[in-house]
Amino acid sequence: MVNTAEAPEGVEGPGFFATSLDKVVGLARKHSIWPLPFATSCCGIEFMATMASTYDLARFGAERPSFSPRQADLLMVMGTIAKKMGPVVRQVYEQMSEPRWVIAVGACASSGGIFDTYSVLQGIDKIIPVDVYVPGCPPRPEQIIDGLMRIQDLVEKEPTRRRDSSEYKALLSSYGIK
Ligand code: SF4
Repeated sequence: MVNTAEAPEGVEGPGFFATSLDKVVGLARKHSIWPLPFATSCCGIEFMATMASTYDLARFGAERPSFSPRQADLLMVMGTIAKKMGPVVRQVYEQMSEPRWVIAVGACASSGGIFDTYSVLQGIDKIIPVDVYVPGCPPRPEQIIDGLMRIQDLVEKEPTRRRDSSEYKALLSSYGIK
């Protein structure tokens, strides 16, 4: 079976198809996400299962994990993030070029999880903006895939100029990020 991406909405006629640039760029980005796995503990093991042959993230065009922030557009934070590690997560995020998206995978990355202690960051959204939260301790690979598909929905619909908008700049500056 050959999987093909659905064409975006547009105007069709004999020998032509017209649509907007935003929709074409969104379609291409949606099917070519390069994730950067930032895995610190048990949720990272679920990510490994998600990448392996049974679940196969390659089906979504996201089979190329990047361990360089500069060649990644999706930061996947999986695991407990100690407060000492917070600046590292933030530096990784800042090194990624726009457009970039973030998934908090699992209870720890989303909210600190069961570790309501002095040393654990109570959610990565304390230091960087998060687009999608995946619940669970740990989430199953199906849930991680669902999180990636929610990101794909955002990527597909994002206007190409969103990152230049005053709302987006205000969001970053609320985190102290330029
Ligand atoms: S959410 Fe649960 S499984 Fe995931 S890193 Fe935290 S304790 Fe481990």
